[in-house]
Amino acid sequence: MVNFFKFNMAKLSGKVACQLAKHGPGSGGTYPGHVFTKIGGQESIPKLASDLKLGSVLITGTNGKTTTTTLLIKLMSKDIQIRKSYENNILNSIVTALLNQKGDLGIFEYGIRDMTYGIPDTVQKLINPVGVVYTTISQEHTQVAGVKNPFESYYKAKKLLSEGMERGAIVTNSDDPRTALIGLDKSKDVDINYYGIETDVIEDIGAETIECPKCGKELNYSHFFLNHRGIYSCECGFKRPEPNVKLVNAEFNSDSWILDIEGDLYNYFAKKNVKFNLKLNVPPFGFHNIYNTLASITAYATFTPKVENIESTVKDVFNNLDMSFIPPGRFEVVDIGGKFVGLGQGDNGDALKINAMFMKQFIDAPFEFIYTTPDEKEEEIFEDHYKVIKSMNPDHVIVVPGRKSIEKAEEYCNIIKQDFPDADFYPLSYDEMDVRIERLNEMARNSDYKYVIMTGCGEEQAMWEEIKKKMINR
Ligand SMILES: [Zn+2]
Repeated sequence: MVNFFKFNMAKLSGKVACQLAKHGPGSGGTYPGHVFTKIGGQESIPKLASDLKLGSVLITGTNGKTTTTTLLIKLMSKDIQIRKSYENNILNSIVTALLNQKGDLGIFEYGIRDMTYGIPDTVQKLINPVGVVYTTISQEHTQVAGVKNPFESYYKAKKLLSEGMERGAIVTNSDDPRTALIGLDKSKDVDINYYGIETDVIEDIGAETIECPKCGKELNYSHFFLNHRGIYSCECGFKRPEPNVKLVNAEFNSDSWILDIEGDLYNYFAKKNVKFNLKLNVPPFGFHNIYNTLASITAYATFTPKVENIESTVKDVFNNLDMSFIPPGRFEVVDIGGKFVGLGQGDNGDALKINAMFMKQFIDAPFEFIYTTPDEKEEEIFEDHYKVIKSMNPDHVIVVPGRKSIEKAEEYCNIIKQDFPDADFYPLSYDEMDVRIERLNEMARNSDYKYVIMTGCGEEQAMWEEIKKKMINR
């Protein structure tokens, strides 16, 4: 039982902290949550979370969390007032949003690197979500800042966020074997709504099979959509579940994409099945955003209490979407007077590949790759990156340290030189960020090539967003 005096003190102090705190992007920071938890203890959080009449939806995954959360917020805000938190994806930012916002439903991004950094089962117990939304689970993030975490523990951490759920619904990607298995394993306890692609117009080239998350044998794929996401089955009987919300056709034009989406799912609050058909006209936002679109629509249709609005709200949001929904620092292609520069964060293999696939749509002439490397002890990230660079086969490569170690970056460059002998190395220092931003901007701007892709490791906001600003403003 929570001590009410302690709870009220904590809530009051947290609210005062809200007045004092400088609010960060999208979420209002984490300080008020920190104050609340310090005074009231973690045991006060469930009472605070129960302020939400409808409950909370948590969004997690390796890539796509912020974009999916942003899109879901756009959709749900049309129907009801919500409390929200994204980008700062830790527990105290959720607590901060609970304290300083109003609304009946919470939509919160929650990132889990592994068991040491995250406390997913504790978060599940404290917040008691009615929904957990999975984007995708890739192996890429298993080595962070030199600490190598076995993929099993990373996967388990993602699973733990929903494992204790006794009510609500899980929204998960059926094309990703790992997130699909989480859904299948919980289907006896809660409702599961899957989303996926059901058309051959999207096909990854050069994707590789992965181990069955259930039995460990190699999966058989009949189609790859994007890396390990595809149509798969295993000897053990595990296979891709049928998606409830699916992309059934797509038409890709240079200035707009047309997406046909069919839905048939269970709405948690209306307690009934709903069907919808959508033809959306969206900006050419990249293949990975097709999954983010499907995830956000599925989550929205699962949790909106206004099921009669589904078709009109989704059309309203997506037909009026511009590229600004892409989070700061993320990859986009900029036209600087007839030269096309694709630039942005790609600090794991999955992210870099998505950037490469996006850029490939534009390229019809020789192009240059400006690659910002990972750090020491991040050889696995380099290996994943390098596979993508080789498959793109650029006409010229420039290598720049993306993190602190210049020596390690040069070592990576020497490996690249074995396949691309005329690759150039620019030892830009991480500490002089302004110089580095200016030089990277100049490099792309003064490139001899019409197409330049500049991606790899680097801080999203501090580096990529600043380079983009410089490039667009001039
Ligand atoms: Zn299996």
